[in-house]
Amino acid sequence: MTSMSDIFTAAYGRTPDGVWSAPGRVNLIGEHTDYNNGYVLPFAIDYRTRVAVARREDRELHLRSTFTDGEVVASLDSLDPASMDGWSAYVLGVAWAAADAGVSLEGAFGLDIVIDSQVPVGAGLSSSAALECAAGVAFNELWDWGLTPLALARLGRVAENSAVGAPTGLLDQAASMLGQEDHVVFLDCLTEDAKPVPLHLREEGLGILVMNSNVNHDHATGGYGDRFRSCEVGAGALGVDSLREIGVDDLDRAATVLDAETLRRVRHVVTENERVLATVETLRKDGPRALGDLLNASQVSMRDDFEITVREIDLACDAAVAAGAIGARMTGGGLGGSAIALVPLSEAEAIAEAVRAVLAEHGLREPTIFPVVPSQGARRDV
Ligand code: ADP
Ligand code: MG
Repeated sequence: MTSMSDIFTAAYGRTPDGVWSAPGRVNLIGEHTDYNNGYVLPFAIDYRTRVAVARREDRELHLRSTFTDGEVVASLDSLDPASMDGWSAYVLGVAWAAADAGVSLEGAFGLDIVIDSQVPVGAGLSSSAALECAAGVAFNELWDWGLTPLALARLGRVAENSAVGAPTGLLDQAASMLGQEDHVVFLDCLTEDAKPVPLHLREEGLGILVMNSNVNHDHATGGYGDRFRSCEVGAGALGVDSLREIGVDDLDRAATVLDAETLRRVRHVVTENERVLATVETLRKDGPRALGDLLNASQVSMRDDFEITVREIDLACDAAVAAGAIGARMTGGGLGGSAIALVPLSEAEAIAEAVRAVLAEHGLREPTIFPVVPSQGARRDV
């Protein structure tokens, strides 16, 4: 692997002042609950986005990425989310979001930035948050913002909402900023309280496989926005600010007020919140081997109620469980992307093979299947 220093030198002809990185994430459980002020349980993965950065004499930001050709140039004096587009919006958006939140950029010097990522794009592993958080930790240190990891996660979210235009919650950025080895991050999206919860995968001989369907999604223009609006409509009709305020006991009343589709969307969010809480309890009391029913129930809820899975994902989850996975579910925004399977490490390869065979039998695209390890969040590398 070429070092970030070498990549930076090839791009800008000098050495960087530092290298920062942030990971992609996988959500263990709690899908589409974040923007409903609910609970999520993601972890940071061992695939990272790195940024190498050096100070400039002027007030310009120069951005390059190994992901694409060309250079984007912006001035710190005219950052405007409305005119940001393409991949650079994820980085420039973080700087703008900080200024918008009251951090002064007046004395800030310009930067040369190069980005290199191991996080596959559009696979439901949040390459976008990895990029925002890597930029966030770098800016925080270089420009001396003094912000906490959680505050940086919030800036990443604002960048994604305002500069990119994707109405996503805090889940991705919280995981990327706050992840720890062999832990999940239990995030309450209403209070923004985040706690690490031990997974105990290592001592149990378990692992997590990502099964990327290789069916692409796009949060800014896809069905994600439709689901977001359905939840808003459901909450409005039920007279609450967010679906967080509704429990399973309220679903009978919801059935008398909501149309059938909105009811299904609401039911997913409400039951998913309960499953996140149950997962935290189960991890504490019984450990990860006891999570199968919760993971599988979440998959069924996303498939039948939220209708955000694709056939490739449904088949992959069923095949994984049939081949010996403890549980399997789609992860990420959906409409393509990836699923995860919680597996005994000794059976990981056989389970992956069984999933590939089932998708091939159905004449569907070959999935990319690989293990992920719950890892440390954003940090300075060099
Ligand atoms: P994901 O599920 O991977 O987060 P998104 O659509 O939310 O998918 O974000 C993907 C977008 O993030 C890419 O289209 C690109 O604009 C940006 N991005 C991700 N990684 C990089 C990178 N290494 N360099 C430049 N842009 C990137
Ligand atoms: Mg994303």
